[in-house]
Amino acid sequence: MDRKRWYICGITALFIVFAGIIFYLNNTELPITNTLKGTEEFSAEIIAMDTYITMTAYGEYAESALTDAQEKIRKLEQLWSVTDERSDIYSINHGNGQAVEVSDETADLLAFALDMAAKTDGALEPTIYPVMTAWGFTAGQNRIPSEDELQYLLQNVDYKKVHLNGSEITLPVGMQLDFGAVGKGYAGDVVAALLKEEGVTSALLSLGGNIQAVGSKPDGTDWRLGLRDPFSEGLFGIVSVSDMAVVTSGNYERYFVGEDGVKYGHIIDPSTGYPAENGLASVSVIAAEGKLCDALATALFVMGLEKATDFWRQYQNFDMILVTEEAEIYLTEGIKERFSLDSSHSSVSVNVITDG
Ligand code: AMP
Ligand code: MG
Repeated sequence: MDRKRWYICGITALFIVFAGIIFYLNNTELPITNTLKGTEEFSAEIIAMDTYITMTAYGEYAESALTDAQEKIRKLEQLWSVTDERSDIYSINHGNGQAVEVSDETADLLAFALDMAAKTDGALEPTIYPVMTAWGFTAGQNRIPSEDELQYLLQNVDYKKVHLNGSEITLPVGMQLDFGAVGKGYAGDVVAALLKEEGVTSALLSLGGNIQAVGSKPDGTDWRLGLRDPFSEGLFGIVSVSDMAVVTSGNYERYFVGEDGVKYGHIIDPSTGYPAENGLASVSVIAAEGKLCDALATALFVMGLEKATDFWRQYQNFDMILVTEEAEIYLTEGIKERFSLDSSHSSVSVNVITDG
């Protein structure tokens, strides 16, 4: 009799414990996080600015900061979309020669792009858009324009004719802007600053492969970032950085194969109107500011190895890793210690570019 009573008591106790656990789980909000050695990790993924954006941030402020970061990216996208009729870029490109008032961010980015266009002697050319359209890159229906068509369009490609006065922009009729080469880098800077302001000390942002590292990894060590091999799906190397941007440009990213069997890439040499073919397969730029990295990765790709080397020797406010069409690797001395070859490329020789 006693045994039976104990048995019933045991079953009842178990039932109460289970009911308690179920009640607890149903009434406790489980945060969508992974706990990493005591540091909370939050991630957000969005498609914006024509690309796939992923953001991972750590610590107690990460979740709310990422919510704000997503909102900020959406706002920047609304300003710089070439197709959205409400965007600043759309208004500028349809201004019919009249001055157009734009947001501070648009004016700031344009001022930067014009400055970089001047420094790179027009290798970065923010008014290249009509040529991009002629090649069909903007509508996704690629074609090979005739030499005459390109020469005609190039008459309206000249950053020197863009007039920026405070927040007023005036373009000559027929000229059109495109922030494709600098917008993602600039957005990376804006988001990194926002995360830091909101107390985040460790985060990694990837805007279509443009990497912006906020601080170091939560354990205090550098982020190890893979560099894509332009000739395969794998990596050719790894760079270890903290609080830096790493941006790569290459014609392997977006291209089409014409009816003539030739590959045509999306980075245009503004001096010819044709996709840049100056012997490089990819250019990665490493510096604190994402916008500088983004502008330079595109411009140095257009320049080719020799001019890019001269440019680096003149400015030296960034590091670069170049892969040539012959799969040779060149890098500047400042990044040498932070670079290592991927095991798949261990036999490749690395050429170091020095100061002179
Ligand atoms: P990125 O991926 O940063 O190298 O930028 C390439 C994008 O910038 C292209 O898809 C075009 O929208 C635009 N673009 C192409 N060639 C140039 C150029 N020489 N200068 C500035 N923007 C360019
Ligand atoms: Mg760029």
